[in-house]
Amino acid sequence: MINRERMINNFIEMARISSPSLKEREMADYVKKQLQDLGMEVIEDGAGEKEGGNAGNIIGVLRNPGKKRILLSAHMDTVLPCDKVNPIIENGIIKSDGTTILGGDDKAGISNIIEAIKTIKENNLDHPEIVVVFSIAEEIGLLGAKNFDIEKYSPDYTFVLDSSGKPGIGIIQTPFSAKGKMKIIGKPAHAGIAPENGINALTVAAHAITKIKLGRIDSETTSNIGVVRGGEAVNIVMPEVILQYEARSFSGEKLDNLLAETDRVFREICKEFGAEFENGVTKGYSGYKLEDSEEILNIFKKACAQVEVECVTKPTGGGSDSNIYNEKGYKALTIGIGMTKVHTKEEYIEIEDMVKTANLVVEILKEMA
Ligand SMILES: [Zn+2]
Repeated sequence: MINRERMINNFIEMARISSPSLKEREMADYVKKQLQDLGMEVIEDGAGEKEGGNAGNIIGVLRNPGKKRILLSAHMDTVLPCDKVNPIIENGIIKSDGTTILGGDDKAGISNIIEAIKTIKENNLDHPEIVVVFSIAEEIGLLGAKNFDIEKYSPDYTFVLDSSGKPGIGIIQTPFSAKGKMKIIGKPAHAGIAPENGINALTVAAHAITKIKLGRIDSETTSNIGVVRGGEAVNIVMPEVILQYEARSFSGEKLDNLLAETDRVFREICKEFGAEFENGVTKGYSGYKLEDSEEILNIFKKACAQVEVECVTKPTGGGSDSNIYNEKGYKALTIGIGMTKVHTKEEYIEIEDMVKTANLVVEILKEMA
């Protein structure tokens, strides 16, 4: 149903535009024009100004009063190296020339959304009220989504086109996470002359580490100390040690409990040894879980059936703009768009998968009409 050539050409144009995080200006102007040509009301918000970027989130609205409202989301920024991308089409796939990433993450998602809306309009298909957001700075901490005023648009359902894997994949669960540095401050002393005057920070850390939970804690929860830095010289009692810690759990409550317990153990042991403890571990974005009975999954499954792709719902370890939307109370599902080996110079995407994804978006729109 969609126009394959038009979508591919549009994608290739966008892939050629350099758009590292916080430098999305050229992409923003490009997609702004496209949304305007579709007859959408287009605005650029203040996210860029706030985060020190040169462009804000681009938001387009296609009214259809009285209908349900859908938010379609994809991000404009890419990881590096993304300068002078030279897309090559070969054997049904699109890839870079090997010197840069391709930027299918997430420009494939943007081209899918634009093509789906073009198709809906051309064929006069009934559709929900459509809000599109092309966000900035996703790759450096979901900064665009964090600043996007989703309450203003209050979508019934949100689809984020930003997962690798085949069309038909829906990400129903992502972990809560926390990370940061824990610092133990002991006391230096000459290790040969007066070690009893010192407090060895590493010894304190070792005692604490034997008492906290590390590694695989349960089926939903993990934690790790990945980096340890400390010491000045072999003849000085180690005055300070820094432990880099991270923890993840699919349960927010379990993560909170783990962090509290780890903090308590370190404080207790430090006190015992007369050392000080500074805990710099902070929580990242929230995880989410969509129940199988959610209407958003029902819509997605029906659309998959129409396009004849297998619907596969699964958890993932990473985050996307969906985490922010779900955290703010709006049901959001990240879906697979066929991008492969993202964040590498070997990144590629199958044209057939792009076609399926765009058709899937058309079906989702029809389903919500
Ligand atoms: Zn992405």
